[in-house]
Amino acid sequence: MSPVAIHELSKMSSDARVRLLERTETDLASYIKKVEPIIEAVRTKGDSALTECAARFDGVTMDSSALRVPESQIANAEQELDSEIVAAIRLSVAQVTRFHQAQMPDQLWLSEETQGALIGDRWTSIDSVACYVPRGKGFFPSSAIMTAVPAKVAGVARVIIVTPPGPDGSADAATRFIASLIGVDEIYLCGGAQAVAAVAYGTETVPRCAKIVGPGSPWVSAARQLLSNRIDPGSPAGPSELLVYADSTVPAALAALELTVESEHGPDSSAFVVTADPALAKAIAAAVPDFWSMMGDYRADFSRTVLGGQNGGIVLAPSVEAAFDFINDYAAEHLSVLSTSAFELLPRIRNAGEILLGPHSAIPIANFVLGPSHVLPTGGRANTASPLAVFDFMKRSSIAYLSKAAYERLAPAARTFARYEGFAAHANSVSEIRDRILSNSSPS
Ligand code: NAD
Repeated sequence: MSPVAIHELSKMSSDARVRLLERTETDLASYIKKVEPIIEAVRTKGDSALTECAARFDGVTMDSSALRVPESQIANAEQELDSEIVAAIRLSVAQVTRFHQAQMPDQLWLSEETQGALIGDRWTSIDSVACYVPRGKGFFPSSAIMTAVPAKVAGVARVIIVTPPGPDGSADAATRFIASLIGVDEIYLCGGAQAVAAVAYGTETVPRCAKIVGPGSPWVSAARQLLSNRIDPGSPAGPSELLVYADSTVPAALAALELTVESEHGPDSSAFVVTADPALAKAIAAAVPDFWSMMGDYRADFSRTVLGGQNGGIVLAPSVEAAFDFINDYAAEHLSVLSTSAFELLPRIRNAGEILLGPHSAIPIANFVLGPSHVLPTGGRANTASPLAVFDFMKRSSIAYLSKAAYERLAPAARTFARYEGFAAHANSVSEIRDRILSNSSPS
């Protein structure tokens, strides 16, 4: 039997198909109970709860003066890094900055759809945001770029980074270097639920923020859910997931190679190739083990677990239409279209956080250096949600200016609505009372 699961849609009951669409995303109920006391401790004890949590959950002894990373450690971080990673970070920051600058909406638009009335929108940035940079199973400095750069481009005045302390009680050098490059001078060493509580309530050291963004473990997600009345919790980004659509115009080994990419994140990842070609399905399954042998046991074991089970492998569809029906029902975080006809297939795709077209649009390039944020909707939410963007750090206000003529044309209908809904003051505001007040007032 192949160590890579092959799920044949034509032989599947509709219940089994529904199960195949499910993710591993953790039921947060059990985490919620456990994070409640953590949140309460941070709310009532502030910094001292953060240092207690660092000892308990991160195995790090620190006092509250170490919660904020000294600015000198941010300014001098480059010296701790190899030149290769410095260059890669510089490239990524430049690309991600350019992409998000291009994405910025016009600050103000006004149109005169109704004669004499200027109506439009004005975009303004939110005041403060905390970017959560995970550091549990590994470290993810690229997440600092993918969250803090769009926040900076959007014009957020106070952008801070929160991240768990490493084993030596420090923030990793790449995250510090990224902060120095993009002008973030506040990094706080707290992780998990305690970090979310710290930015939701504020502590002696950690500032209260309007919003938190970024990926995180179920501890982080549970705290965001619980604290959503204190802080904008951003959109949740859970375990990684990938669909690859492949047809016979690309080598089977290429689909196998991409399949290993997101399945190496952890046993809770999801990764499937979807194809309508039975011979290709077999060839892809046969090609995967070669790549496992190149990955090292730690990551290969994650990939074996994912690709051999219910959350990964090959989905064999009875037709191209059925393949795209599955793809749209799944609404994956990442979708790679491996076909020389990728652009012709694009109109068939409705639901996916990121759509990478053609054999050279490699997932790791998108994850690290391309430009769009790698913080993408997971858990099937790509059917309604979008990748993290400058819009997540901004909000719109409607703007209107009415001339006297436009007022006179629209006031009677507004008065009728006001009376119908029983609002006397509303009706008065658009009656002859306003006219009287205005005609009696002399311009100052
Ligand atoms: P994390 O920083 O989110 O979680 C680690 C923290 O959890 C610890 O510092 C600790 O404070 C807390 N914690 C751990 N055990 C605890 C316990 N028993 N009780 C209370 N708190 C506890 O890092 P992580 O664990 O590596 O999770 C990061 C997640 O983000 C992974 O699932 C990763 O795949 C995902 N990720 C997603 C994206 C994306 O764009 N979707 C990008 C990067 C990472």
